[in-house]
Amino acid sequence: MPGRAARRQDVFNPATGRVARQVLLGDADDVRAAVAAAKAAFPAWADTPPIRRARVLNDFLALLNQHRDALAAMITAEHGKVFTDAQGEVTRGIEIVEFACGAPQLLKGDYTDQVSTGIDNWTLRQPLGVVAGVTPFNFPCMVPLWMFPLALACGNAFVLKPSERDPSPSLFMAELLKQAGLPDGVFNVVQGDKAVVDALLEHPDVKALSFVGSTPIAQYVYETGARHGKRVQALGGAKNHMVVMPDADLDQAVDALIGSAYGSAGERCMAISVAVLVGDVGDRIVPRLAERAKVLKIKNGMALDAEMGPIVTRQALERIEGYIALGVQEGATLVVDGRGCKVPGPDGQPLGGFFTGGTLFDHVTPAMRIYKEEIFGPVLSCVRAKDFAEAVQLVNDHEYGNGVAVFTSDGNVAREFARRVQVGMVGVNVPIPVPMAWHGFGGWKRSLFGDMHAYGEEGVRFYTRQKSVMQRWPASTPKGAEFTMPTAK
Ligand code: NAD
Repeated sequence: MPGRAARRQDVFNPATGRVARQVLLGDADDVRAAVAAAKAAFPAWADTPPIRRARVLNDFLALLNQHRDALAAMITAEHGKVFTDAQGEVTRGIEIVEFACGAPQLLKGDYTDQVSTGIDNWTLRQPLGVVAGVTPFNFPCMVPLWMFPLALACGNAFVLKPSERDPSPSLFMAELLKQAGLPDGVFNVVQGDKAVVDALLEHPDVKALSFVGSTPIAQYVYETGARHGKRVQALGGAKNHMVVMPDADLDQAVDALIGSAYGSAGERCMAISVAVLVGDVGDRIVPRLAERAKVLKIKNGMALDAEMGPIVTRQALERIEGYIALGVQEGATLVVDGRGCKVPGPDGQPLGGFFTGGTLFDHVTPAMRIYKEEIFGPVLSCVRAKDFAEAVQLVNDHEYGNGVAVFTSDGNVAREFARRVQVGMVGVNVPIPVPMAWHGFGGWKRSLFGDMHAYGEEGVRFYTRQKSVMQRWPASTPKGAEFTMPTAK
């Protein structure tokens, strides 16, 4: 949307700590204009044959592939994650577009011939109308791609409200959709904050809203959207555990914990933030984790050998370092302290960005706030458990249920774990089990409000309504008036 907004917000390069650009924050008028444009574009787009809609997405896919590195660089510049990780984010987003290109197959309905003599019944899935997406800062490309490709493939018009911390990738994708031939008004971006989200939640022409972000906001969005009669899926925060059994391959477990706790500076909803160390694993693994956490390569994310970049904003950095102080106060053992990390720039002087190092706590207990709350930074908490049953109980008692992993060499332990654990996405010797495009993504408990997961077939269901049609042609079975419940004849 061309911004008529008066309010602006600074967008930082987190590696240097300097303001790189500003984003205009939209208001209710901008939302009204975007929804009106989407509503006007909807009928023709919904009437476009699904295969032709898919062709537009196919051209968009080609453009995304062509501009993959430009998008990744944009992500690193505003989010801070390392460039190679940003490339991975773009790839995982592209996979959803690949899936959406096959939507005509998924939109096929069911048909039953002859449900009664001369009568057939079929179901079809129709688009909802104008649908909206509200996305978090930590995947400014991939999370919008969880939503709009499928929504568009299903025939909806879309309004995206990306995070105000890293607004550029969404605008770039809007430009690529235009180049791919998407008619004007079918996809719209309104930059902004709570004011835009509230206007979308209250707008009567927005039929459904997908949200991804923190749990308190997810709950607010779910409840407010429901009150306004909308279909809502709201994915929230996480505290993902990785259970390490005594028979696990410890080399693999150490690599998995280091990568999944400190990758993307822990700013992933599928990051592992709790290691549950069963039996004697704790004493064997903690020294090895400490050794590795101390030597992480923390740099400007554009350095190709960087393992960890900066935190997204100064406020987020302060929140994370505040949690580290709290953990010490609560009596956890601070094994590696990442606070006060200084990263030198090319001239040898500190870069001045929002950096913190990898932090490792041991002997964390379930009563501590650093265990209960989402820190969303590079802080790994180790909890000791006496056996498998205690480890599973710990996971199941936690309020979040996004992702979880078990590391073991015992097939039966793995099987029992996957069956008993109360979490939406489970990894067996896989630390970050983000499902592929056709499987769908979603947590349990307070990690997801709503019935359907993001993308995959659940995504198709979310963005469509089922209609059932029953037909009889007058010549087939002439009937008189019927006064009883119709049954198969
Ligand atoms: P956030 O909840 O602060 O913001 C998410 C979106 O909501 C943004 O677009 C923001 O502008 C908007 N928003 C913020 N405050 C609002 C308010 N009071 N009312 C209405 N809208 C508001 O989240 P974030 O900091 O951008 O992202 C990090 C969080 O997202 C973490 O909690 C992380 O676990 C979660 N996350 C979850 C998933 C998942 O799939 N479950 C994926 C990625 C991130």
